[in-house]
Amino acid sequence: MIGRENLYLPEIGRIPRFWDIISLRQSKLLALDYDGTLAPFHVNRMEARPLKGIPELLRKISLREDTTLAVISGRPLDELEMLLKPWKGIMIGSHGFEKRYCSGQVFIKKISLRQQEGLSHAHTLALDRGMEAHIEKKPASIAFHTRGAEKRLAVRLEGEIAAEWTGIASRCSLEVRKFKGGVEVLARGWNKGDALEELLRDEPKETFCVYIGDNSTDEDAFRRIRSSGIGIRVGNRETPTAARGLLPDIPAVKGFLDAWVNLPLKSGRERCHEA
Ligand SMILES: [Mg+2]
Repeated sequence: MIGRENLYLPEIGRIPRFWDIISLRQSKLLALDYDGTLAPFHVNRMEARPLKGIPELLRKISLREDTTLAVISGRPLDELEMLLKPWKGIMIGSHGFEKRYCSGQVFIKKISLRQQEGLSHAHTLALDRGMEAHIEKKPASIAFHTRGAEKRLAVRLEGEIAAEWTGIASRCSLEVRKFKGGVEVLARGWNKGDALEELLRDEPKETFCVYIGDNSTDEDAFRRIRSSGIGIRVGNRETPTAARGLLPDIPAVKGFLDAWVNLPLKSGRERCHEA
């Protein structure tokens, strides 16, 4: 049982013994989604900064000998780098297709020619509808953003775009997914769950994984680590999820990170990463 005398350990919904489970593990991988998990949503996407205090907590966790820390997002890697500055830990962008280690080394997964053609077609269709200001072209996906739009209009536009993209997706090994504040057509064959599993393979065999996210693409990661770790979904209790645990909102994630920073160290695991 973890010594609780001077520690604030926030409750993790549905996992009352979470901190006891974590405190027994010598080697841990903590992976976090970005938007809606570390950073509140903002109509201007590049203004969606991490909640005050979170960058410092990330820096401190990166320094822990027992934890490898990674941020995994649907955003392109260059955006993540800009928004998380000066933090330089492991970042995975574009739903797993781009990976940057803390050494600065970058790996990019290629999508097939057919997928490239499909995304290009989906992009053209959206532009033809006069949606240029709301379209984001990413290395392995095209996103249509409706954040800030009136709700009924947003739902109608997302439905129309999704219907047009679905036809292309079925022919080009792509899939259409709704996310909070828009809809996206993305390459099949690799996702956040795959990226997380790949990270875990780089870690010592006994490493325990915790993944925190708030959105539908995070479900791939929750499902993947059900036997090797704990997924925690950020949001309300009603949303169906494969995650075992729940945190209500971003301030609760901040409290979680703060508790992680202060966990007693179990071992002197050799650290291969830096802040
Ligand atoms: Mg998110």
